[in-house]
Amino acid sequence: MDDFSTAIRGRVLVPGHESFETARSPWNRAVDQGGVRVVVVPEDAADAAAAVRCARMAGLAVATQPSGHGAGGGLDGEVLLRTHLLRNVEVDPVRRTARVEAGANWGEVQAAAAKYGLTGLCGSSPVVSATGFLLGGELSWFGRRHGFGASSVRAFEVVDADGHPARVTGDDDPDLFWALRGGGGDFALVTAVEIELFPAPSIFGGRLLWPSRHAPDVLDAFREATQAAPDELTLWFDLLEFPTFPEVPEPIRGLSAVVLDLAFLGAETEGRALTDRLAAIPGLMIDSRRPLRADEMGTICDEPTEPGASIFTGQVLTGLTDEAATTILSAPGGPMVSVQVRHLGGAIARPSDAHGAHGHIAEPYLLGLLGVAPATHVAATVRARQAEISRALVPYTTGRKPFTYLSPGEKAAAFPADALARLREIKRRRDPHGTFRSNYPVLA
Ligand SMILES: Cc1cc2nc3c(=O)[nH]c(=O)nc-3n(C[C@H](O)[C@H](O)[C@H](O)COP(=O)(O)OP(=O)(O)OC[C@H]3O[C@@H](n4cnc5c(N)ncnc54)[C@H](O)[C@@H]3O)c2cc1C
Repeated sequence: MDDFSTAIRGRVLVPGHESFETARSPWNRAVDQGGVRVVVVPEDAADAAAAVRCARMAGLAVATQPSGHGAGGGLDGEVLLRTHLLRNVEVDPVRRTARVEAGANWGEVQAAAAKYGLTGLCGSSPVVSATGFLLGGELSWFGRRHGFGASSVRAFEVVDADGHPARVTGDDDPDLFWALRGGGGDFALVTAVEIELFPAPSIFGGRLLWPSRHAPDVLDAFREATQAAPDELTLWFDLLEFPTFPEVPEPIRGLSAVVLDLAFLGAETEGRALTDRLAAIPGLMIDSRRPLRADEMGTICDEPTEPGASIFTGQVLTGLTDEAATTILSAPGGPMVSVQVRHLGGAIARPSDAHGAHGHIAEPYLLGLLGVAPATHVAATVRARQAEISRALVPYTTGRKPFTYLSPGEKAAAFPADALARLREIKRRRDPHGTFRSNYPVLA
């Protein structure tokens, strides 16, 4: 540990230090990180490289974790490297690219891009790191139009398993470039990514909300609308149980609701024309549809931005038959606070080399089951209920799970067999001593 303190200009925290517990805790408090040996917070990329060299010399693995939104646990005896001081975002409006340091979140990237009428392929939460998303492939609001977030990556700046800095592009290191686009954080420490940005002169989006008794009508309309939606329109169906906390505004505090969240990459008039029929479903309580700036995408779902304990599981669905719809409609209640179906398709479903390790997802829908679990006994109830719903949906799944939708206990479900074999071969060749440890290691 003395070597770490000598070699690194940033913070080095060991058990017993007053800030250690906070520093080692993941954003998702339901995940047990295990016995982390040391938390390192590098000041810059050179400092991060020094941390990797120290870990390598000490025979320790490095688990990089900007925040722990996607924490997988099991970091016994490892170095936990936090990237939140690497935060710079630079946009080149002429080339339509952004260089994003590893700790910057999507909100920061979108704020920089929006100044030029551009957008990145952001997800639903502004506080999740762009690098963590992109390494997992990333399903974006704009994925149906432009593909996985990972397909927008032009270059990675990395520290390799020997602690050397390198720039990785498709031309000069195609294997590693392929693995990093969707294969997770197992192959290198990424210090920055260069991504393509996309023109977004206008975006239209928001939330439509009804009391939950309207859920069957809304789900029917969602099924119909997603059959015909252009790639520029993304629709998500969600059954929500809003908490009774005072922070939740009336009239939705404690409400069981059904919502359609939507984003349209185009003009308001066209966006309204495409979605007014949905807003006309009787019983509508809230219609927040409006023109959005690229840095307002996080307002659509308004997901929690503070750490909390949640248990999540997801799976792709081959279709929304009447039977599948009935199972989904019966899912909320008890410990389940969100039962969400995201429409995929479009560019996500079309095979392309640009998708990287993750490959395309042919299945048209993605189910996410989220429960809050402030205590262990509640966690067990959440898991049991999730397993019950998942079992009922087995006829409509292929077993595939997007990498960013994995949860602790799930490992290789994200990859087709040939892609997993290639990832494992690259891991053994590029990191033979196991210096890097992803939240979902490919060799486990
Ligand atoms: C509220 C919320 C909303 C979400 N919305 C979406 C969504 O719309 N679409 C979607 O696809 N997913 C979504 N996710 C899932 C999210 O993409 C994953 O949880 C992702 O792993 C989060 O990345 P992070 O960096 O914030 O998390 P962390 O848990 O800090 O990191 C996740 C993993 O990424 C790797 N990693 C991160 N940074 C580096 C680095 N610099 N070098 C090497 N490896 C690194 C590590 O293996 C690390 O364990 C959401 C999650 C939450 C909690």
